Amino acid sequence: MALIVQKFGGTSVGDVEKIKRAAQRIVKTKKQGHQVIVVVSAMGKETDRLVSLASEINPKPSERELDMLLSTGEQVSIALLAMAIHSLGYEAKSFTGHQVRIITDSSFTKARILRVDADRIKDELNDEQIVIVAGFQGIDERHEITTLGRGGSDITALALAAALDADVCEIYTDVDGVYTTDPNIVAEARKINRISYDEMLELASLGAKVLQIRSVEFAKKYGITIHVRSSFHEQEGTWVLKEDAGMEEVVVRGVAYNRDESKITIKGVPDRPGLAAMIFTAVAKNNIVVDMII
Ligand code: ASP
Ligand code: MG
Repeated sequence: MALIVQKFGGTSVGDVEKIKRAAQRIVKTKKQGHQVIVVVSAMGKETDRLVSLASEINPKPSERELDMLLSTGEQVSIALLAMAIHSLGYEAKSFTGHQVRIITDSSFTKARILRVDADRIKDELNDEQIVIVAGFQGIDERHEITTLGRGGSDITALALAAALDADVCEIYTDVDGVYTTDPNIVAEARKINRISYDEMLELASLGAKVLQIRSVEFAKKYGITIHVRSSFHEQEGTWVLKEDAGMEEVVVRGVAYNRDESKITIKGVPDRPGLAAMIFTAVAKNNIVVDMII
């Protein structure tokens, strides 16, 4: 018996059919004799819808109220998923971040998880329940609702996997895994079977969107194996794990790109100490973020 965390992203629970399909997937894992914790995102583009609703009401909405609003998206999907599992004849209970005490700091809209109270979840698992937790949300010390930043359900899944010492954290998504580069642009792009935490961090920071970068840092810190895989078929996806000997032989694992980068060349800069500092101080004073220096 293993303890498995399964995270379903927005596209994997985008409509009724997809929620039912996710439920079947979860039940199948439970049937194999494993304990299952499920983390879900809001349905499809729900979070985007809520964000634009807020900005129609107030162009600069309060961040506390934004979190109050955005956290509702996940509350809808956890309840529907629990109902879908019930109709397959299995037990499941849904929980908000508040209920399983995912404690964060107080930075609304970009909170960081401080700790998770694993006891409540353990009790439910021992009671044969499939535990479904709302992704992307927590509470601070004063019980204010917080959210973890866009794409934050990945972090919820990894945090729960760490707190409960799960055997694997499966990230279900609408692609087959992590690719050597963007298959929409390069036809020869291939799925990567195994990738190390550091290589994944590198790809994620360069714009590969399959995994939220903070969640990869989390996995690395706690040594949690991640399996990024498709929610539409059973084939294995990409394993993200600690580097092993075979992995070191690869020189280039993948290529990521960014379309929003400007390159500015300053010519004729004399090689004198203090000049770089002078240039970058001026740049920083104007709030310009420098990504790469060549
Ligand atoms: N629903 C949230 C978002 O769209 C969190 C997530 O999907 O991971 O950013
Ligand atoms: Mg995501």
